[in-house]
Amino acid sequence: MTGAVIAVDIGGTTVKAAVVDDRGRRRSRREAPSLGGDDTVAAVRSMIDGLRAEAAAAGLDVLAAGVVTPGLVDASTGRIAYASNLGWRDFDLRGALETELRLPVSVGHDVRAAGRAEAQLGAARGASDFVLLQLGTGIAAAVMTGGVLVTGAGSAAGEAGHMPVYPGGEDCPCGKRGCLEAYAAGAAVPRRYRAAGGTGASTAREVTALLGRDALADQVWTEATTALAFGLNTLTMMLDPALIVLGGGMALAGDALLKPVSAALSELLVWRAAPPLRLSSVGPAAGQLGAAIEAFALTGSAACVDEWTSGPAGCPE
Ligand SMILES: [Zn+2]
Repeated sequence: MTGAVIAVDIGGTTVKAAVVDDRGRRRSRREAPSLGGDDTVAAVRSMIDGLRAEAAAAGLDVLAAGVVTPGLVDASTGRIAYASNLGWRDFDLRGALETELRLPVSVGHDVRAAGRAEAQLGAARGASDFVLLQLGTGIAAAVMTGGVLVTGAGSAAGEAGHMPVYPGGEDCPCGKRGCLEAYAAGAAVPRRYRAAGGTGASTAREVTALLGRDALADQVWTEATTALAFGLNTLTMMLDPALIVLGGGMALAGDALLKPVSAALSELLVWRAAPPLRLSSVGPAAGQLGAAIEAFALTGSAACVDEWTSGPAGCPE
């Protein structure tokens, strides 16, 4: 039987789960709305149960599950100290899943898991010092330094979206002002476009589709990419990364994102070279693949993940 894990990425609005085999291939997939609290736990349990049955029918032996979530996540205990969008506070997520599922479960942080996937399989492959800036509805970073993903004293490292880029600036949903996220997140771009009187777009993707044809879209996008460069300037001065990877839904804008951020960052850094900026190569599934990598690590076959990019050899059947 081929070994497999179930990888679950819990987001603020959607839970995405997939069976990932020991070649790194995503097999069956499921999605459910993320309603928060106990409802999200129940949804995760039922998705894992359903996928486990599908996997067995396909001849796959599910060895573990990997679950990643936003918030203050202690991967060593599987507890969530706080996750605002999910309504969890000091919650034993691993216990809540393992007890009923009777399956080993790893619990990790969604963006750090995405960083792990980029480091092992993607744009940061081989780098031991890099920053992944995940640009989704909100913004967070995975920071790897000296080959170690930084978690901080309270599992709260990487909240790059709430670094101030304009002190006293616009309100951020977090309660502070002038945060990077208030200008450059996937939710901020269309909100700021509409607030400026724009009517042609209601998502960040639609705003970028208007670039070059709509002056308001151009202005809001320039403000977003400038704010990102301010944030990356600070991260670069602090961490001296070998490279910076831009991921999340906003990275689908491609060169429209990469070029202006890169140019503005080089200008801001003045006396030092900017680290190379790259787009995520794992894409929006990075968190889920990171969850799969963490689950395989539980099963003792972590090494087979190294084979995922180099072909189908090496993993035990
Ligand atoms: Zn904030």
